[in-house]
Amino acid sequence: MPPFDLVVYARRAVLPGGTGPAAVRISDGKIAEVEPGAVAGGAGAGGPGGPVTVLADDEVLLPGLVDTHVHVNEPGRTDWEGFASATRAAAAGGITTIIDMPLNSIPPTIDAAALAAKRAAAAGQIHVDVGFWGGAVPGSAGQLPDLHGDGTFGFKVFLADSGVPEFPPVDRAGLGRVMAQAAALGSVVIVHAEDAAVLAAPSRPATAGEGRTYQAFLRSRPAAAEVSAITQVIELARETGARAHVLHLSAAGAIGLLAAARRRGVGITAETCPHYLALAAEDVPDGATQFKCCPPIRERDNREQLWRALRDGIIDCVVSDHSPCPPALKRLDLGDFGAAWGGISSVQLSLPVVWTQARERGHSLDDIARWMAAGPAQIAGLAGKGQVAPGFDADLVAFAPDESFVADPARLHHRHPLTPYAGARLDGTVRRTWLRGRPVTGGRPGGRLLARGERAR
Ligand SMILES: [Zn+2]
Repeated sequence: MPPFDLVVYARRAVLPGGTGPAAVRISDGKIAEVEPGAVAGGAGAGGPGGPVTVLADDEVLLPGLVDTHVHVNEPGRTDWEGFASATRAAAAGGITTIIDMPLNSIPPTIDAAALAAKRAAAAGQIHVDVGFWGGAVPGSAGQLPDLHGDGTFGFKVFLADSGVPEFPPVDRAGLGRVMAQAAALGSVVIVHAEDAAVLAAPSRPATAGEGRTYQAFLRSRPAAAEVSAITQVIELARETGARAHVLHLSAAGAIGLLAAARRRGVGITAETCPHYLALAAEDVPDGATQFKCCPPIRERDNREQLWRALRDGIIDCVVSDHSPCPPALKRLDLGDFGAAWGGISSVQLSLPVVWTQARERGHSLDDIARWMAAGPAQIAGLAGKGQVAPGFDADLVAFAPDESFVADPARLHHRHPLTPYAGARLDGTVRRTWLRGRPVTGGRPGGRLLARGERAR
């Protein structure tokens, strides 16, 4: 028996300490050793190891990405997406771990029975590892200890309408109760931070026929709604001592608040999404509801401020917010932004979308690994994921950063291929993905269910 199940050599491996040649030796699904500087067949290649894979010269070895914001929608809305299709798409996009959102499945993951239903639905059909967020809605705070005890990674709340009736928002007092519970349990509260009161205040009267106009939709979801909600989250995080995480930050106007809160020691983190970093309101055609998401894609200048906040570490990570629905619910027939479901499908394209934009701005694959693997893993408290380092799961990606392609909906594994990136030229192709040392082929599903506080089982 060779000492290792697999040895991967890469001329460029993205390691926690930087990028360079390395050998990664894998045993029992975990990274047993990393030897920086090792070259296949070279003097520094160490002794006999086991089966060897040598990455091509144009390939970079990345840690498998961790996407902590995916709506799988199964059970209950399996016609929207599902564990098999979502995880096949994730693996094809270099993502080896997802954490599923507590909505828009039915039931939503707001109690232990619903979590058990999710686990049962996922078991046996997942191609990457899958964990679960719990959710909190008005009156459900008593369920949080059980959800926590059963291994959810934290609790999601909405401060505005979620889009589905079974997952209503909490008010400020409700958010305070959830945060106090989370603080006591040592969990994290993840927040859809738009203030319902600001959204409800009519900024100007709607005009007939305005539904197709992107600018009108943008005005209906102002940055002020995010700023107001994030202000409340920061105040309550400080009062309760809870750790809070702002989901899908779109409004650059909140960046200063987040930075100031952190300087004062408030436990708050934030994520943004590929669409806020790649797209701009000025470019969204009227009627193109495949671009609708909440909070919305904002202006170009706002986008560049989000990039600066990422660079400065005020935004911690980039995750997809993959939130599909059947094409009919996007109401492309009407092109009405008010009537369309808000959500963008992107789990398979996150990496090339973000990389294409990142490299233009001078960022490296080390940054990508921090934003899309180690960063989200740390926020979710995912042990053993997101780094090419000894003791971590051998979740790896062979990525060709200079190979470009045109995004073709027909090649997406999402249940529904509708995407705002259709026809876009993107940089970076995922050539191979390994999950715990095994190639993900799309054949037999090899993913495992993850629970907070323990390794994959
Ligand atoms: Zn979401």
